[in-house]
Amino acid sequence: MRKLTILGATGSIGTSTLKVVAENPEQFEITALAAGSNVKHMVQLCLTWRPKYAAMFDLKAANELRAELRNLNLNTEVLAGVEGMCQLASLDEVDSVMAAIVGAAGLLPTMAAVKAGKRVLLANKEALVMSGQLFIDAVQKYGAELLPVDSEHNAIFQCLPESVQTTLGHCQLESHGIDKILLTGSGGPFRYTDVNELQTVTPKQAIAHPNWSMGPKISVDSATMMNKGLEYIEAKWLFNCNKEQLQVIVHPQSVIHSMVQYKDGSVLAQMGEPDMCTPIALTMSYPERISAGVSHLDFTKVGELSFIQPDFQRYPCLKLAIEACYLGQHATTSLNAANEIAVDAFLNKGLNFTDIAVVNELVLKKASSGLSQLDEHCLESLVEVDRMARLQAEEIVRARLS
Ligand code: NAD
Ligand code: MG
Repeated sequence: MRKLTILGATGSIGTSTLKVVAENPEQFEITALAAGSNVKHMVQLCLTWRPKYAAMFDLKAANELRAELRNLNLNTEVLAGVEGMCQLASLDEVDSVMAAIVGAAGLLPTMAAVKAGKRVLLANKEALVMSGQLFIDAVQKYGAELLPVDSEHNAIFQCLPESVQTTLGHCQLESHGIDKILLTGSGGPFRYTDVNELQTVTPKQAIAHPNWSMGPKISVDSATMMNKGLEYIEAKWLFNCNKEQLQVIVHPQSVIHSMVQYKDGSVLAQMGEPDMCTPIALTMSYPERISAGVSHLDFTKVGELSFIQPDFQRYPCLKLAIEACYLGQHATTSLNAANEIAVDAFLNKGLNFTDIAVVNELVLKKASSGLSQLDEHCLESLVEVDRMARLQAEEIVRARLS
């Protein structure tokens, strides 16, 4: 029986994780659940899963949850804030931690799981993007086991030999006969939209992903392809690859979830329905396989598989992220923070869709001038870079909205 903490339990990945647990009740047990502020959803989860612990980031929400659970005679212990989440990520009795908080808010709890030497099921790509080397070094130092949940990285992981799978972050692709990682992406809902019309697209249109059902932030990131940019940086850290070893390809059907090209000309691809339960199940059961409750691909219905070069005119955020990747940690931490502010402003404050890239570019430019000041091995410094970039992005957003 493997015992799990789920960080981000009320979200899209949290929900899929619980589906996989429900599919395999004899193999997994929910010890702890954590989320941001949705008390109603958390009460439901506590009723269904009877976890020993629950945590809410929001203090008021934690108090409400405590009161509600008491009324229901549930003896789940309720914790609060970042500290509470970090505690649940490092419980002695827990084996695996699903890191599925969205955005930079996930960094500290995810790092807590790493430092406790857990099996870390990493969905929260922003945590790795904003801390890179520090994160990878901590995985090694504390003997944590890192398994990528992101469907592309999970696909790549599946196409790699075991000796690479077990040395993520430090693997040498070349010495295993690997030439290149081919990171695929659907191109999002606007892949065929006239570029001149992108300025006026609405949040509702941006969130309507053609192939995947996901939380709002990552859905907007998919529409700008910033998601692929963050995944590019994520891949660089996970698979220790250089510029020549990593390529983004647009594959509109999302049947292939990414590929690995070997030097003998072989290309291995992982395919499946676009359902996160498949990669989540693999991270939970690795090296074994369990049922994920996902139907099999029907190849007679798949039809055509097509592949195109990404168009940086249409997806300027993808270009920015790739540039940031080679500028260094200061740049990727800043870009990630700017993007969170810009996406939030697009979703909630009326910022234009195309202004997301404008905000990101301006913050990245500022960040590039401060490259030498950062100690990238210091978590506090990274958090400070994140904070500064947010302030800059907020200022730019205010100016564009006024
Ligand atoms: P979501 O918006 O559906 O859920 C986010 C979760 O994080 C919720 O449970 C929310 O309560 C929690 N949360 C938000 N702010 C918090 C805070 N300050 N403290 C604690 N918890 C907080 O998002 P999602 O789509 O499930 O994505 C989660 C992560 O997984 C993201 O990093 C995303 O990039 C990654 N991911 C998602 C998918 C997908 O298919 N949804 C695929 C690959 C990677
Ligand atoms: Mg992905």
